[in-house]
Amino acid sequence: MIMNIIEKIKELNIGEVIENVNLTSYTTYRAGGTALGMVFPDDEIGLIELIKLLRSENIKYKIIGRGSNLIFNSGLYNGILIKLDHFDNLVIDGNEITVGAGYQLIKLATRLSRIGYTGLEFATGIPGTIGGAVFMNAGAYKSDMGYIVSKIKVITPDLRIKELTNRDLDFHYRSSFLQKHPDYICIEATLLLHKGDVDEIMQLIDDRRKRRIASQPLEYPSAGSVFRNPEGDYAGRLIEEAGFKGKKEGGAMVSTKHANFVINVDHATGEDIKKLILDIQKTIKEKYNIELKIEQEFVE
Ligand SMILES: Cc1cc2nc3c(=O)[nH]c(=O)nc-3n(C[C@H](O)[C@H](O)[C@H](O)COP(=O)(O)OP(=O)(O)OC[C@H]3O[C@@H](n4cnc5c(N)ncnc54)[C@H](O)[C@@H]3O)c2cc1C
Repeated sequence: MIMNIIEKIKELNIGEVIENVNLTSYTTYRAGGTALGMVFPDDEIGLIELIKLLRSENIKYKIIGRGSNLIFNSGLYNGILIKLDHFDNLVIDGNEITVGAGYQLIKLATRLSRIGYTGLEFATGIPGTIGGAVFMNAGAYKSDMGYIVSKIKVITPDLRIKELTNRDLDFHYRSSFLQKHPDYICIEATLLLHKGDVDEIMQLIDDRRKRRIASQPLEYPSAGSVFRNPEGDYAGRLIEEAGFKGKKEGGAMVSTKHANFVINVDHATGEDIKKLILDIQKTIKEKYNIELKIEQEFVE
């Protein structure tokens, strides 16, 4: 009998496997078609076994965090998505915090802030995982992961486990070594944080939460900012000035609250979202001769 890939993965016995995954449940845009399968490896040994199998079977794969920066189209993602939910270890040792790549950033930032650690306040509104945040060098309020990550543990393309230091990670504005080397998988990160005044930390978080609620369309599905800010300006300002606020494409719309957010207002497809984003990018180039860089990722 010829086994299909899902059966072969199940035979490995390395963690939960789901077949025909509806991607609207795994992306914050609530858009996307179906993926062949999704696997939740129990540990790094299982993860390595899985990758060996997928490579030998020539099946494409991708790590997915909270899907809070991803756009899938409405067809079939003919591959396997790997979710590191079980990589959720957390060790707090003085200033050094070691955390699994699948740990949720908001949960970590809130938990550490409440016990007086300062440095992660910027992350309390970013709905990704640690792995996704390192990959994106997620940040806000002039801070980002690059300021606090001292090292990470990765699985290398030749399937060894290795440490990369902050310097190796080459963090820049919404950019990191991992983005340029997507064959590396982050399985754990070590952060360096300091102790501060709990009341001040919680006050700052509360102020920023209120500012986010007032300025961002958090009541709709989105993936946060669509474009990186160009040097010395704001993408949102340019998009608003170009008249895009409220512009619709199928079920996707440029938010009227914040022009750098595309929101899913009515069962938007990934294609709707992509079309709108590319239209904005083209118009801004024609109007201002500025090449807006897309922060979100179209998954093929
Ligand atoms: C309401 C809202 C507000 C947001 N605000 C901000 C903000 O203020 N600042 C900001 O920077 N972003 C923001 N974002 C965007 C998003 O949350 C970040 O980019 C986040 O870091 C993505 O993490 P994720 O786990 O969801 O990654 P995903 O979107 O699932 O994946 C993103 C990329 O990372 C890769 N990846 C994920 N995990 C790993 C891993 N373990 N190893 C290697 N590669 C990996 C994936 O393969 C993919 O290429 C916002 C999003 C939303 C919906």
